[in-house]
Amino acid sequence: MATKIDETTHNFINGKFVSNGSPRLDVISPLNGSRISSVPLSSSKELDDAVQAARNAFPEWSGRTLKERVQVFYKYRELLEKHMDELTEICHTENGKTWGESKAEVEKSIELTEFACSMPQIITNEVQEVSRGVEVRIDRKPLGVVASIAPFNFPNMVPHWTVPNAIVLGNCMILKPSEVVPVSAVKIAELLKEAGLPDGVFNIVNGGKEIVEAICDHPEIKAVSFVGSTKVAKIVYKRATSSLKRCVALGGAKNHLIVLPDANEEMTASNVIASMSGCAGQRCMAAAVMVGVDKVDHIVARMVDEAKKIVPGDNLGSVISKEAKERIEKYIEEAEAAGAKVLVDGRNATVKGSEGGFYVGATVVDYVTPDMAIAKEEVFGPVISIIRAKDLDEAIAIENSSGYGNAAAVFTQSGGAAKEVMERASAGMIGVNIGVPVPREPFPFGGWNDSKFGVCDITGKSSIEFWTQNKKTSIKWNAEARTNWMS
Ligand code: NAD
Repeated sequence: MATKIDETTHNFINGKFVSNGSPRLDVISPLNGSRISSVPLSSSKELDDAVQAARNAFPEWSGRTLKERVQVFYKYRELLEKHMDELTEICHTENGKTWGESKAEVEKSIELTEFACSMPQIITNEVQEVSRGVEVRIDRKPLGVVASIAPFNFPNMVPHWTVPNAIVLGNCMILKPSEVVPVSAVKIAELLKEAGLPDGVFNIVNGGKEIVEAICDHPEIKAVSFVGSTKVAKIVYKRATSSLKRCVALGGAKNHLIVLPDANEEMTASNVIASMSGCAGQRCMAAAVMVGVDKVDHIVARMVDEAKKIVPGDNLGSVISKEAKERIEKYIEEAEAAGAKVLVDGRNATVKGSEGGFYVGATVVDYVTPDMAIAKEEVFGPVISIIRAKDLDEAIAIENSSGYGNAAAVFTQSGGAAKEVMERASAGMIGVNIGVPVPREPFPFGGWNDSKFGVCDITGKSSIEFWTQNKKTSIKWNAEARTNWMS
């Protein structure tokens, strides 16, 4: 491997990588099962140090104008491009997604940084003469010290959902990466420092459950963003808001793609399979269930052809761990035992030369019924379950019955049918003939139901609301003027 990953991953506090006596967890590459680093499981003491550094940095950083603050991120954007290969390789190694998927993640991080750089063009404060001689203006002010807690599946992109926006808006940030993939964040810290970000504005505290709880409880942290499973999103949302912080917590997903018989056969089959297998199915936007309406056998046959073109270790990455592989294979086994038909079977996949890796091949399971676990629970692997529905109403009812609500999509050439799904699907992000309907910048990202807790979305313009507070000022410039402001 060309890029050197440090034997030990450190916290990043006040502009320095620091070590302490915390217990350490091995970081394993899922590509081959080898140990690539270790990560500290920090305690509240390290969090206190990071919060103190962020508090100290806040007055100077928030005192700069927005236009000054984005200058750092213009430089940072250039550095992301310059270090693209290195970031890609770290992501590939620690997460297991393919080189191309890892590179796409870094490219997306650049797009997110560009959005943060555009803040001065987006934020113009409101001002109005509310009565003769009196005006009211609204200024957006940062919150202070804020935190971002990330999952394993996007070691680059998810931190870039929050870090550039929150910091450009004048906050000082503490990032808690997933302890499973902590190395990408090290590079992010190095590049932010090289770009000229003052010490203390960005900090990293590594660890797991204990440090997340400490973040939720810390009285000096004003806002927490979380991305991860629904189980933990609920814990974090309840705990952070009960200590009177604002919180947005994105959870898991079970995305339904409704396919009508008139859908374009080739495009639909390749989109559905790409959606379920990209990043080995470990995307919160991945297709999990295809609801086939009426006669769609011709599309299913084409999907089988597409799935067979996917080769683990070549155009399919690994899943994150041995436990994940076992969990995914168990869902397939149980569905088969309950009467579903496995059309393409990715169980027991191995990659020559990487026998220690955690691979599951692309899997297509037909005749799944809504009561099966594979239809209801988040499998988070390269598996598509096909549920048959007699008509569009039944298909929409199946989608609506999911507790989640991240994404839903419809594949059809009928505008009327597409509009029905747009209106009636219970999900925050809808695709029409698109299998991964991520709303790109400047549009915000966020689901509904058990896929998101909190009012704001996490990216785009919605993030401005989340990371700032409004100051409303009423001004009478000319004290002598005859005004009618309550006077
Ligand atoms: P996870 O919930 O296990 O972990 C997320 C974060 O929470 C990590 O930083 C982890 O250290 C911490 N954590 C884990 N258990 C905890 C506990 N008991 N108490 C407090 N903190 C805890 O999620 P993951 O496995 O890293 O990521 C995969 C999940 O994330 C999937 O469910 C996926 O759908 C979801 N996800 C959702 C979105 C979205 O936009 N909705 C995006 C990416 C990932």
